[in-house]
Amino acid sequence: MKDFKNFINGEWVSTARHFDNRNPVDNSLIGRVHEAGLAEVDTAVAAARAALSGPWGQMTVAQRVEMLHAVADGINRRFDEFLQAEIADTGKPASVASHVDIPRGAANFKVFADLIKNVPTESFAMATPDGGEALNYAVRVPRGVIGVVCPWNLPLLLMTWKVGPALACGNTVVVKPSEETPATATLLGEVMNEVGVPPGVYNVVHGFGPDSAGAFLTQHPYVNGITFTGETGTGEAIMKAAANGVRPVSLELGGKNPGIVFADADFDKAVAGIARSAFENSGQVCLGTERVYVERPIFDRFVTALKAKAEGLKLGPPNDDGVTMGPLVSLAHQKKVLSYYQKAAKEGATVITGGGIPEMPTALSEGAWVQPTIWTGLPESAAVVREEIFGPCCHIAPFDTEQEVIALANDTPYGLAATVWTSDLGKAHRLGGALDVGICWINSWFLRDLRTAFGGAKQSGIGREGGVHSLEFYTELRNICVKL
Ligand code: NAD
Repeated sequence: MKDFKNFINGEWVSTARHFDNRNPVDNSLIGRVHEAGLAEVDTAVAAARAALSGPWGQMTVAQRVEMLHAVADGINRRFDEFLQAEIADTGKPASVASHVDIPRGAANFKVFADLIKNVPTESFAMATPDGGEALNYAVRVPRGVIGVVCPWNLPLLLMTWKVGPALACGNTVVVKPSEETPATATLLGEVMNEVGVPPGVYNVVHGFGPDSAGAFLTQHPYVNGITFTGETGTGEAIMKAAANGVRPVSLELGGKNPGIVFADADFDKAVAGIARSAFENSGQVCLGTERVYVERPIFDRFVTALKAKAEGLKLGPPNDDGVTMGPLVSLAHQKKVLSYYQKAAKEGATVITGGGIPEMPTALSEGAWVQPTIWTGLPESAAVVREEIFGPCCHIAPFDTEQEVIALANDTPYGLAATVWTSDLGKAHRLGGALDVGICWINSWFLRDLRTAFGGAKQSGIGREGGVHSLEFYTELRNICVKL
């Protein structure tokens, strides 16, 4: 049985309070997690604060860049351990985690380390009222201690997406991983020590949200900025906590993303793309498609083809050959997703496929499995069409005109992502401009140059991270004016 301890000031810290970490494949016990209380969070924040003026704060940018490359190399050296830890926590197929989660987890350190080497700042030679001259320029300085609160769907990838730029900019971090997925954040502590990252630069506190480590961290007065990925409701709570002391927040929140398929699209590519965006990672991707709109002439054919894709998914444990879909992350999440399956049936949906728990071998019967599910026939007001479910499911509705589908797609409080399938270039650009989202994919999904801005519109988030845009959150611009 594993013991997941807090990582504070380069040391492993046990606590008296524990909670179980379970494998969602069969609900077996992976280990126990040491829950951080107020005292441990306080110590972690103090360590992060002290580290700002220690050896970490004295490093040149070049030395920091070298160290972050060493962290990435350290993850890659222990690739299989990270992979097994991630798939035990989440149940996701090893084939997916080994191509997405772990490589991107390592890459996030290199990308931001390389970026920080080449960041220009503005500088002006100005005339002064007395006829002299001044040089007015800006420097970027670290914001300080960054509180990093993470979700469970892509644990290492989404955590390092924040820790990478935070450290590249010279900050220190206290990370609160999701209570569902404590493993890879903990393992990263070992890598930090192995490669010589100074104590206090990277800290991990385990626990839950309210009245636990998440709330203690986000309410802590010495945390200088909070970056959060998770549900919109949690984002609201964190924003309230951040108001105390006027701390900045970066929020990557929920979505209810539309997928739009025009009759002129490459049909097979559109079906494959929507299938991926609806079912990959068991639908537990913030950018996933839960609302599909298909132009009427191809509606019936599309529904039949997507049904075949859903029924062709192979459910099973992460390391089994050919498995394309794992369980949900936990029994609690399974209960939530199944409650939406029941709501859909109650609201009169036509269930094209799925709608319940799949039959699994006895050894897996205690796992958090749900069937990939497709509905049609619901009004736009139905709960499963309006609310984020975060499961392997989607509702498909027909549409007749471009204007109609733009209005349908935008009729949501969320604004994270959209995907559009068409072979008409003009239409593609028009939709890209008209959809009120943070990212709009045309004939693709989950494809992005890491130098571009990422974030949500409306209730899907505040701020943009990615490339130089991350600097806005992870640094302060200090204006220096020198009278010559
Ligand atoms: P969640 O909001 O329940 O939890 C996220 C984290 O916040 C966890 O670590 C949790 O312990 C912590 N937390 C909960 N309440 C807190 C509080 N009051 N104060 C401080 N911390 C608190 O989200 P989740 O269920 O882990 O993740 C799924 C959600 O994340 C979905 O809504 C999904 O859309 C969203 N998500 C968004 C993005 C994005 O980039 N926009 C990416 C991935 C996931």
